[in-house]
Amino acid sequence: MNAVADKFRKDFPQVPERISGLVDLAYNLWWSWNPAAKMVFKQLNPQAWVESTHNPVRMLTELPEETLVTASKNPLYLRHYDIVMSRFRQELASRNSWYTEHFSHNHGHTIAYFSAEYGLHHSLPFYAGGLGFLAGDHLKESSDLGLPLVAVGFMYSEGYLNQHIGQDGWQENIKELLNRDASPIKRVMYNHDTQLVARVPFIDPPIYISVWRVDIGTIPLYLLDTDIKENDPANRMISSRLYTGDNEQRLRQEIVLGIGGSYILDILGIRPTIIHLNEGHPAFALLERIRENVADKMSFEEAYAHVQNTSLFTTHTPVPAGHDAFPHALMDKYFGGYYSLLGTPRETILGLGRAPQDPGGIFNMTAFALKMCAFRNGVSKRHGEVARDMWQRLFAENGTNVPPIRHITNGVHVPTWLDPRMELLFNTYFSPSCPNWLSEHDSPLIWEMINEIPDEELWAVHVQLKRKLVNRIREHKRRKWVSEGTDPINVVSGGALLDPNALTIGFARRFSTYKRADLIFQDMDRLKRIVNNRWRPVQIIFAGKAHPADDEGKRIIQKVYQYAHQQDFGGRIAFVEDYGEQMAQYLVHGVDVWLNNPLPPMEACGTSGMKASLNGVLHMSIMDGWWIEAFNGTNGWAFGDTVTGKNRDWSDAGQLYELLEREVVPLYYTVSNDGFPHMWVKKMKEAIRSTAPRFSARRMVKEYVRQGYDPALGFAVAGKKSNVR
Ligand SMILES: *Cc1c(COP(=O)(O)O)cnc(C)c1O
Repeated sequence: MNAVADKFRKDFPQVPERISGLVDLAYNLWWSWNPAAKMVFKQLNPQAWVESTHNPVRMLTELPEETLVTASKNPLYLRHYDIVMSRFRQELASRNSWYTEHFSHNHGHTIAYFSAEYGLHHSLPFYAGGLGFLAGDHLKESSDLGLPLVAVGFMYSEGYLNQHIGQDGWQENIKELLNRDASPIKRVMYNHDTQLVARVPFIDPPIYISVWRVDIGTIPLYLLDTDIKENDPANRMISSRLYTGDNEQRLRQEIVLGIGGSYILDILGIRPTIIHLNEGHPAFALLERIRENVADKMSFEEAYAHVQNTSLFTTHTPVPAGHDAFPHALMDKYFGGYYSLLGTPRETILGLGRAPQDPGGIFNMTAFALKMCAFRNGVSKRHGEVARDMWQRLFAENGTNVPPIRHITNGVHVPTWLDPRMELLFNTYFSPSCPNWLSEHDSPLIWEMINEIPDEELWAVHVQLKRKLVNRIREHKRRKWVSEGTDPINVVSGGALLDPNALTIGFARRFSTYKRADLIFQDMDRLKRIVNNRWRPVQIIFAGKAHPADDEGKRIIQKVYQYAHQQDFGGRIAFVEDYGEQMAQYLVHGVDVWLNNPLPPMEACGTSGMKASLNGVLHMSIMDGWWIEAFNGTNGWAFGDTVTGKNRDWSDAGQLYELLEREVVPLYYTVSNDGFPHMWVKKMKEAIRSTAPRFSARRMVKEYVRQGYDPALGFAVAGKKSNVR
């Protein structure tokens, strides 16, 4: 199989020729991080834009033809449209990027990026949390920097989980199927009328996959889909949901992602020189690379060395559940016919997945990836240490005392996470001395200009974003009350009484146990005194999902939900359902303080606090993950015991109350004679100045290129051997 026709997408006969570029734009997520492009859709009809949940493909599908025709004759609209389209086309065609400028010697070589999840936009629910957004931001930044990267992932038709909280506070999952035809994904075709379908090579019983494509600027992301008639019912379900609890289904997912994904690239004529694995889920891609090399007449040893030096692995968590492991018997069930193609006995292959901490007979995906990739990294300085500690024995067995695991600290895609109003404000004050500030945003010098912004103006934008958040939560709850007739108490606990003037703390992330969402409820009386201070009230907004198989996480949600119902909290504790990308945007822009209190050293990095800090939302965090690198004494707050591992909830909570009572609340409510909280704004500026450049995805992707991609490409091109094992 080789001929592949163009990507198929729906026809939009209702879109007039003059503005037909809207269809191309709708199918490229580039619009999502370019505010002017967003406006091109919004201006068509602001209400329809909201009703489409900011999904332009759906909007174009639903808009009446006359609206589009009217727009195509409106000179004002057309002017805006033409400017945006010209920039869009220019950026997609551009050959002058940071990458081509600095790494022209790598011309013609492709990098393949594999991840089980991608957080790109709420219209594509292919993420569970931070790992996914990290991957999504990596792709967006790779597009901005001009990297020759292609990505592989899953088309999860049921997404991760649509959270609904029952009357008793227990999380339920409402099954909601993605409407593939109203999403910005295109079918990859074999020819004009047949969809590409491939069998995952040499795996028995057979699994078939079809492919979709999303465009993220210049980066194509290929999404694997097993929900096709060629598969039996169990196989059809492989790609239905992220992270199923069933181990065998999980194994089949990872076979599809790693082996199927590599094979699909091959069919599409894409031969990546190097591959980058985001976490262990796609690690079978390494086996497939060995198989290809052995088929090309390399010995296993040669293939092994080659794969090792051209593969990169990023490990993301010290949490045991984050490391998949499969019994050998289960491996044999699928790889029975595959082992023999690898040029080495089955035992050697299975031995590569042995982790010293596991009982025998287990294939550990992280251990395998660590052995098979010469470039390995954790996702913050601290996590690098933790990972070296965690995998010490694995490397000691091969005579390496300090495990060769480095770190590249995560970063967030600034154009995605910076609120457009903030961006506009920065533009006003940064542009005179640096018109290209946004494209040079990883330069710390740019951000020194933050002090040129008058306090009043920064505060005004912040207040506006806070109102927007509170209005959005209240309106949402009001509509639910009207349409579903929920118990009024749920309207209160969902945030109907939130006050846009009160000091607002946000806590939103996955409800994994180690993140300790309920820490602040350790001492209820003390918390009530803080929250209910009549002159200096404090409110807390919670949001987040628990993994469907994680009952402990669900119990924490239930607890928080029940606290939100307590009358004596006066509606100042709110739990907002169904946390996703859109609510994250509102929260990280609109609260005053972003709270983070995981149990160290479990938070490998954490990225939501970076999104908050970038927008002047002050980070109040335990010293763990990225905050150890970022906290400078004045750009937010740090608290918590320095002892790791022990049960320390009570003392950590005590320090948190202390900080709130003594510093955070007084600072927020200290207003100068002119009516503005200048001291607070000073801290906001310091947060933006000190974190925006360093914790940007731009800085991060550049580090991956310099430390990882470029040396690996160098090896592949020169064929020179690295001694790293
Ligand atoms: C950024 C983000 C996360 C990751 O947050 P952490 O603080 O790293 O846990 C999770 N979910 C959403 C929707 C996000 O935007």
